[in-house]
Amino acid sequence: MTAVSDALAIASGPAPMPAYRGRLAPSPTGYLHLGHARTFWVAQERARATGGVLVLRNEDLDRARCQPEFATAMLEDLRWFGFAWQEGPDMGGPFAPYAQSERLPLYRAAFERLRAGGFVYPCTCSRKDILNALSAPHAGDDEPIYPGTCRPRLSPPAGRACSWRFRVPEGEAIAFIDGQFGPQEFVAGRDFGDFVVWRHDDLPAYQLACVVDDAAMRITEVVRGADLLVSTARQGLLYRALGWAPPAFFHCPLLTDDRGQRLAKRHDALSLRALQRGGSQPHDLRATWATNVPSAPGEFFQQKP
Ligand SMILES: [Zn+2]
Repeated sequence: MTAVSDALAIASGPAPMPAYRGRLAPSPTGYLHLGHARTFWVAQERARATGGVLVLRNEDLDRARCQPEFATAMLEDLRWFGFAWQEGPDMGGPFAPYAQSERLPLYRAAFERLRAGGFVYPCTCSRKDILNALSAPHAGDDEPIYPGTCRPRLSPPAGRACSWRFRVPEGEAIAFIDGQFGPQEFVAGRDFGDFVVWRHDDLPAYQLACVVDDAAMRITEVVRGADLLVSTARQGLLYRALGWAPPAFFHCPLLTDDRGQRLAKRHDALSLRALQRGGSQPHDLRATWATNVPSAPGEFFQQKP
């Protein structure tokens, strides 16, 4: 456990201002598609523009959905498209390992810190329980706002699996400047509710793993899809609770198909693999994107405790 504590201490301690460190964080749950490639390309361009480092992180925590064949394909497809990274699961680096499935002790240490600090509480609600408890139908594709059923619960139930939720500060506005979309503000309890940081299957939830890795890998700017804007507010709360400085954020508009639907891994025809087999060339695909990459980094506003 000493190594884990040290790693967390390093991530939270004062550090000299690092050069730009960006990351690509794909999840091997299917083949990468053009939408991923466009967001990743922005990340790569922003790292290149400053002579920075690009980290590849394999977000393979979801054991049920991640498959080794997709992890292999992921690396092949990224290379084919023209991506080059300086640290990653295939080449190692100073913050190895770069696959989330190999980083569980780090997440657990951060979770224990949240637990010791009283930031989280055990929750036994199923998704159905939560939907049933909501008075208004849930709109959009973000998760429903947790109704707070288990908030008073102090200790986990005996002999029963539970998840752990972060108790958000009701009514507090979490503000940050996004490098692409400018000033953003999300109100805790209104725009998002208590969110899961540790899952009932004893794995860290996305929000926690992402924050722990970005902090431990000294990422200075997170470039990702605009669907994660609200998650940035959640993650801002995790950074504050853990005592770490958040990185800058730059969210990219999402690619849609010709019916206005967001590209997803089910759009097989637009997978990099299918495009390659169909004879597409990466530079032609990239030429179809309007490249407009502003140079301003985003920043978190000082949050009032
Ligand atoms: Zn609950």
